[in-house]
Amino acid sequence: MGSEKRFRPRVVIAGGGVAALETLLALRELVGHRVRLELIAPGDAMVNRPASVARPFGLGGPPPVSLTATARHCDARRRRGRVVSVDVGHRVLATDSGEFVRYDQLVVATGARAVDAIRGALTFTGPSDTRAVSALLDGCERGEVRSLAFALPTAAAWSLPLYELAVMAATDLRDRGAATSITVVTPEPSPLWLFGEAAGEAINELLMARDIRLVRGRPIGHARGALRLADGGEIAADACIALPALRGPAITGLPADTRGFLPVDPHGAVRGVLYVRAAGDATSFPIKQGGLACQQADAVAAAIAADLGAVESAPPFRPVLRGLMLTGGAPLYLRAELDSEGAVTRHEGQRLLGEVSTRALWWPPGKVAGRYLAPYLATARPVALGRAPLADLTPNASAAPRPAGADEAVELALLLAEQDALMGDHAQAAHALDAAAALTGGVLPARAARLRDECLAAAGPLPT
Ligand SMILES: Cc1cc2nc3c(=O)[nH]c(=O)nc-3n(C[C@H](O)[C@H](O)[C@H](O)COP(=O)(O)OP(=O)(O)OC[C@H]3O[C@@H](n4cnc5c(N)ncnc54)[C@H](O)[C@@H]3O)c2cc1C
Repeated sequence: MGSEKRFRPRVVIAGGGVAALETLLALRELVGHRVRLELIAPGDAMVNRPASVARPFGLGGPPPVSLTATARHCDARRRRGRVVSVDVGHRVLATDSGEFVRYDQLVVATGARAVDAIRGALTFTGPSDTRAVSALLDGCERGEVRSLAFALPTAAAWSLPLYELAVMAATDLRDRGAATSITVVTPEPSPLWLFGEAAGEAINELLMARDIRLVRGRPIGHARGALRLADGGEIAADACIALPALRGPAITGLPADTRGFLPVDPHGAVRGVLYVRAAGDATSFPIKQGGLACQQADAVAAAIAADLGAVESAPPFRPVLRGLMLTGGAPLYLRAELDSEGAVTRHEGQRLLGEVSTRALWWPPGKVAGRYLAPYLATARPVALGRAPLADLTPNASAAPRPAGADEAVELALLLAEQDALMGDHAQAAHALDAAAALTGGVLPARAARLRDECLAAAGPLPT
């Protein structure tokens, strides 16, 4: 008696990015040592894509976050490797170094793969592309590039980095005395539309103050001094910087949608398999953003904690967008959530409630607004060691629980699908509708189901 050992399930987290670290920190906070934690990822440090936009302009970024140190802080085992396949029947995964790892719960947080979306453009995906952007800016200074376009391939995207690059490039080139004209080309209904009208106005002002032209259209290719649009139009541009399209991890043995993303329910459970959850860019949720990745990770950690009886209930993923925009001067803080009156069926007139401010709208005010990760990145200390979790600082912040059934994640996915369909990007719209269907257990409101059929017919065979 007394020496009986309590079973401690093994939770394996695949990935070493924002979603993986938020899951790790959240789980330790919520379940303590009721589980054994293990982190499997290649590389030594978390890749910090959000901060990389500042590098081409000579601005420093935060120091690298060591995966080994973070695992140690959380008393987790750190295994180096890449998950290549999962045997969900036997709950065993295989890594690229030939190891087999057993799990009781698997959390897939392996991110997405960036691919070129605009042929002929320089695609900016993060730290690995900062040199190419610097070289292009040097070309502008030498007078070789007289017109520069910044292009967003799809409206259902995290577009903030494109505006950051354009605004900082304009300031930098002006300081260098270059006469390059800058144009932003976007299929969004208004700049940073996801953050609502106030954000659009603030960005318009920023662009105007820096002589940046804004063109609405869907860019599809750059060649011979022109950026081609889907509607047949062209914009003069000696060079073009674009954001990428993303593809999912498509891990052998796990379900995937047409683009390789994992379909998940609002608690991050991967559809059709047991004991596997997923969070972040690897999932089919249409906007790939660090703050949302953390919110998905929190939903996953809470669901695991609830299964273990460590917490009473597990709140589902409810997207709140928080963006810190670097401008080369004072940053802008943007925050938005859906004004969801109408549960799953979207009502006409539903809009995004947004705030924009030059003062921090959340604390700590980092670029990746993770409940546990933001304080960790700010202090390199887990929340349990004395830091309060991230909190909103505005009266608009909804600390109170929302009525059951209000499903903002589904609403947001539907809103994005409609916007993409409107701009003729039917494949992207179908993808967003698939994500909405995954969140609702495969059921879409009739209007959305009709839209999905129309999009699939218009898109033809979907590219993989
Ligand atoms: C230029 C740019 C700027 C951005 N700016 C912002 C911003 O300001 N704010 C914001 O919130 N978001 C921003 N984002 C988006 C944000 O970077 C991503 O949404 C976020 O990094 C997603 O986190 P993740 O953990 O899902 O994936 P990732 O951060 O991509 O991490 C994936 C991890 O999994 C590992 N991995 C990959 N495959 C495997 C495998 N098979 N097995 C094990 N491990 C694997 C990778 O090595 C990596 O460690 C920006 C993105 C870009 C490209």
